[in-house]
Amino acid sequence: MDTKALLRALPKTDELLKREDLSVLATQQPRPVVVDAVRDAVETVRARILAGDPTPVDEDDLATEVARLVAERMRPSLRRVVNATGIIVHTNLGRSVLSDSALRAALQVGGNYSTLEYDVESGERGSRHVHAERLICDVTGAEAAMAVNNNAAAVLLAIAGLAARKEAIVSRGQLVEIGGSFRIPDVMRQSGAKMVEVGATNKTHLRDYEQAITPKTGLMLKVHSSNYRMVGFTEEVPLEELSALGRSSGVPVYEDQGSGVLIDLRPFGLPDEPTVRSSIEAGADLVSVSGDKLLGGPQAGILCGRRDIIDRLKKHPLARALRLDKMTLAALEATLRLYLDPARALVEIPTLGMLTAPADTVRSRAHALAARISVRCDGAYVVVAMPDIARAGGGALPMADIPTTVVTLEPRTMSANELEERLRLGEPCVVTRIKDGRVLVDPRTLTAAEEGEIVEALARAAGVDG
Ligand SMILES: *Cc1c(COP(=O)(O)O)cnc(C)c1O
Repeated sequence: MDTKALLRALPKTDELLKREDLSVLATQQPRPVVVDAVRDAVETVRARILAGDPTPVDEDDLATEVARLVAERMRPSLRRVVNATGIIVHTNLGRSVLSDSALRAALQVGGNYSTLEYDVESGERGSRHVHAERLICDVTGAEAAMAVNNNAAAVLLAIAGLAARKEAIVSRGQLVEIGGSFRIPDVMRQSGAKMVEVGATNKTHLRDYEQAITPKTGLMLKVHSSNYRMVGFTEEVPLEELSALGRSSGVPVYEDQGSGVLIDLRPFGLPDEPTVRSSIEAGADLVSVSGDKLLGGPQAGILCGRRDIIDRLKKHPLARALRLDKMTLAALEATLRLYLDPARALVEIPTLGMLTAPADTVRSRAHALAARISVRCDGAYVVVAMPDIARAGGGALPMADIPTTVVTLEPRTMSANELEERLRLGEPCVVTRIKDGRVLVDPRTLTAAEEGEIVEALARAAGVDG
């Protein structure tokens, strides 16, 4: 057929929409999306014909393409991913997976009216700050607390509340970048404080702080270097000493602690990371942490410490702009409640479970998964379970090598990069690591159900049917 005949044979949009399959599709999916997809599919074929392609038009193929386009356009952009990387608090993959009780709480509060700002006792207006406050105080030993949108917001609010138009003293060794353009000097500027740097990059002494205190000092800030470590000839002032100086000079000491460790993780072979309670006990006037790093809750920033300071921050104009939404607040409250029984927190908070799963358990799971993959995928991969290192992620515990066992996959008919891509573009999206020409699957960050999904994803990627 010549080009003209091919173009004449192209079905009209209206005609295509009358097909049984597409008219059904247009009742199941938004009609405008289906109409657009039909138009686009026809346009693509028209362009192909005009480019000289002599293949006749197949209406069934067009309908298949329309269904594919509609599915693609209706698919949520923010959707579930299977994290096989072994990086537990994977910031790009949404940090912490929520516990069942946190999810139930968010659902309850999101799907109903709630006590968000309503005091049931008096029948009058209440404060959204009350919901998480008592629990934060219980699990940290602090006098008062509040929760905001994230820890970056907490840092901004704390500095603005305590040191706007004043001076804020910070060690040169702690002028960190957390990632995503969040840098302490920039936050200082935004919050209206004048930053006073003290010490040297590697060493800061108590006398450096002491000499920097003036009548204009509003705050001494200690930033926990969560995402990096300095080694060698280094020294920073312990929080106890800084707090003592703060008390004697009347300057509040604020620690941005970052990862939000609420229980001692040393018994699980993890590094000695200060808990929020230990910072409060060391005398910090104010501490802030993230809700979704090692704490294992939703995105949030927790501020806790002295009652007069927290009260001031609650009344600050920025507090409204930085406040937490009700579903997040419900999830945070439920997560914190689990910590009242630390043994339960370790079992029910997924982040803690993954972090503390014994190496032996992960090894057994890796071997069992490797065996399942070998059987199911019919020799498409060289499958070997091997020791490797998992990471806490999220800029937390950067020096912690968490022993793990991974399933390594060497595809026989494609490259490791190609396999990684097929897994990533599949449904569900499976994110893996590549090392030494092999694709790595770490059971440490997988649920049992996800292991099954990975077995099937690998079978599909290899073209093994059934
Ligand atoms: C992660 C982190 C932040 C930022 O917290 P977000 O919850 O990501 O906003 C700030 N300070 C420190 C020390 C951190 O580790």
